[in-house]
Amino acid sequence: MSQVYKQRSTAEWQSMDAGHYLHPFTDFADQMERGSRIITKAEGPYIYTSEGQKILDGMSGLWCCNLGYGQEEIVSAVTEQLRELPFYNSFFQCAHPPSIELSTKLAELAAPHMNNVFFTGSGSEANDTVIRMVHRYWDLKGEPDRKIFISRHNAYHGSTIGGASLGGMGGMHSQFTRLPYVHHVDQPYWFGEGGDMDKDAFGLKAAQSLETKILELGADKVAAFIGEPIQGAGGVIVPPATYWPEIQRICDKYGILLVTDEVICGFGRTGHWFGADYFGVKPDLMPFAKGVTNGYQPLGGVMVGDRVAGVLKSQGGEFAHGYTYSGHPAACAAALATIKILERDKVLESVREGKGKLLQDKLATLADHPIVGEVRGVGFVAAIELTNDKQARTRFDDNCTAGALCRAACIESGLVMRAVGDTMIIAPPLTMTEAQIDELVTKARKALDLTQQRLGK
Ligand SMILES: *Cc1c(COP(=O)(O)O)cnc(C)c1O
Repeated sequence: MSQVYKQRSTAEWQSMDAGHYLHPFTDFADQMERGSRIITKAEGPYIYTSEGQKILDGMSGLWCCNLGYGQEEIVSAVTEQLRELPFYNSFFQCAHPPSIELSTKLAELAAPHMNNVFFTGSGSEANDTVIRMVHRYWDLKGEPDRKIFISRHNAYHGSTIGGASLGGMGGMHSQFTRLPYVHHVDQPYWFGEGGDMDKDAFGLKAAQSLETKILELGADKVAAFIGEPIQGAGGVIVPPATYWPEIQRICDKYGILLVTDEVICGFGRTGHWFGADYFGVKPDLMPFAKGVTNGYQPLGGVMVGDRVAGVLKSQGGEFAHGYTYSGHPAACAAALATIKILERDKVLESVREGKGKLLQDKLATLADHPIVGEVRGVGFVAAIELTNDKQARTRFDDNCTAGALCRAACIESGLVMRAVGDTMIIAPPLTMTEAQIDELVTKARKALDLTQQRLGK
């Protein structure tokens, strides 16, 4: 039992929660009316609620607990570090062993041209850092007119003003004033937007919307293109094979920096260290966060390729940017312990060749379900599209009723699966056993049956 709070009833916690706690991405009125689900402990790939329900966590917390819960080695690494040196800053030419060790380790894991890292506390801060660093780069290069970022509709790059401006979520954009220098182009979402085109042709067309936008804005004004290798929060959108090579060609042609947001794809989700490695693209910058510490400590950062680092490091003048917790020692210790386990237990190999294949094969069997239009995925991330017409790929209604029903049916069945509109998404811990993979797919089918019944189909 905790030393800092006492055991209470669910009702008591829910009432305190409703009274005082403003949650992220939450309808506060709804929170007060329905009461929060309170998670009290976790073990392996399971979470437990205050009511004692055991739920298989198909989302790895929030795409971050890639090794599942109960990782004692990470706990020990963090605890030891907190005893030795709980905090010191990295400003003004200071450093400490965990941040130095981690930066060197990350450079070893990333592609050969990625040799530097800037630490932050989160993915949003990492993307804000990308904006600051890209603008600084072009200023130092003597091209200060290059300020524009191009991103995609329905992208997610975090929730700070920078991150949310880079993102392409309409629901977020309508609630604040965006940065004026971010523009958005098509997303490679074949199921939703591909119409009658075949996937590869559609992938090319979506990528070419970048070139059209560059020419419209003026190539000498565009600083960078940013994209998630696989869009996560937007609905696990795995682009057609033609997409990323065409994006690379366009960025190279116009000399535009390429940024792959690795906050979800990084650290094993696709069976590679980074999503860029899976797709064979060569980014200049890679923001990361989430899985780097297995969710045990908040940490993010930006991997910086030689093209940008070379300019930043060879020209004088301070880069006037940083966070108090940039390179926090305990967070870096958690990351080092996480990477050690990923390497020692050959987790990436298993995602690439063994259990990742098994998971995708078993999920693919759900495609025969009457309300499923497509199952897609890579490694340990996947999406299940709900539809009322498999051929036309149409939705049951405009209010995403099917997705909401399915999410609730999943919880009832003891499985966390997230709904993005009528797209069900999962990103389970990479360490799940074969039996747990079977359990996930069985529970998903049960939830799909319940959803179908409740839709009256
Ligand atoms: C979650 C996420 C972010 C934001 O990370 P935070 O740690 O929540 O700030 C940025 N980019 C992508 C792709 C993400 O999934």
